[in-house]
Amino acid sequence: MINITAHSDFSIHNLPFGIFSTKGSAPRVGVAIGEHVLDLKAVVDLGFLNISPEVVAQPSLNAFIALGKQTTKTVRQVLQQWLQQEDSLLYAHPNLFYLQKEVKMHLPVEVGDYTDFYSSIEHATNVGSMFRDPNNALLPNWKHLPVGYHGRASSIILSGTDIYRPKGQLLPEGAAQPVFQPTAKLDFELEMAFIVGKENPLGTTISTAQAEEYIFGMVLFNDWSARDLQKWEYVPLGPFLAKSFASSISPWVVPLEALEPFRVNGPKQVPAVLPYLQFEGKKNYAIELTVGLQTPDGITHPLVQSNYRYMYWNMVQQLAHHSSNGCNIRVGDMMASGTISGKTKNSFGSLLELSWGGKRPLKLKNGMERCFLEDGDRISMHAFAEKEGKRIGFGEVTTKIYPAL
Ligand code: CA
Repeated sequence: MINITAHSDFSIHNLPFGIFSTKGSAPRVGVAIGEHVLDLKAVVDLGFLNISPEVVAQPSLNAFIALGKQTTKTVRQVLQQWLQQEDSLLYAHPNLFYLQKEVKMHLPVEVGDYTDFYSSIEHATNVGSMFRDPNNALLPNWKHLPVGYHGRASSIILSGTDIYRPKGQLLPEGAAQPVFQPTAKLDFELEMAFIVGKENPLGTTISTAQAEEYIFGMVLFNDWSARDLQKWEYVPLGPFLAKSFASSISPWVVPLEALEPFRVNGPKQVPAVLPYLQFEGKKNYAIELTVGLQTPDGITHPLVQSNYRYMYWNMVQQLAHHSSNGCNIRVGDMMASGTISGKTKNSFGSLLELSWGGKRPLKLKNGMERCFLEDGDRISMHAFAEKEGKRIGFGEVTTKIYPAL
């Protein structure tokens, strides 16, 4: 039997999927359980599961996810049973299991398109207050549609991949002319993202009632941002190079089924939304989120404690809106929530909000101050949900910042 500690992110209730490799072997599909990875390809090769070996021998989850929710759900349920049986055939083959610390993780999906929403009312209000008018922070469209933009899929990177401070064009305070230099306002954004598991043909739409069928699972998402580049470039078409240099994700994709016990109601939407965005049931999830900053001296400072349940717009609304014009979405597409802020100051999901645009430096316990990130800083995000003895976690997304090249 696999021994799982009470605080493990990867309990029997979770069983997230990812792509891993061991020394000298090709990347393939695995399942996280406790401190271990179950080699799903090896399980299929032994004939224990009735799915094609090719599907789990791929360097991404796309082909596995494309089998459809009926199949992936069944695989998860069967594994859940087997892993709890002491006399299970799985345990007769100890070479099916590896320690997580001994394997290399890879990007879990090949992301075709990446969309970033802007769905936290607290975040949108904070940003609107800073950049525009505190008394009129939300733009007129905000409560009527889940605002979003098309991001860059090629620079989605795995947790543990370091980034270099990006350079770009910005307008220094009070200057008449822009300059090109490394960003002085490098920031993180605490987000979660969902991965699409089913495609809709071009010209068709996905209703809020159908949307969950199209969502395979979720990861933690850090949407890196260069605030000075963003401020200069974003009018009128929205974020471009201030966001496209990197976005970091956690390696394990938590299936939507694992989040079932943690459903909650979201904030009441007033005014009422248009019919195509209306939905029934609990469509938010209570997921605790934290961000820690490790300064170059090695000391870790807790920065943020937020919760995914605060989201004003939920995933089924995001997906219904995304496809409402007949846009086809595809397996492996990634849709991020937007920065997840709450009402209290320690729940703000970016340094832009925590330091209020750089006006209120954060005083850290080692005597350092931060408005934005410095070279050598490391940002680590964690997420978990817990209820009635069931705990599932997302692992970690951690990234260190190096000086501009
Ligand atoms: Ca974002």
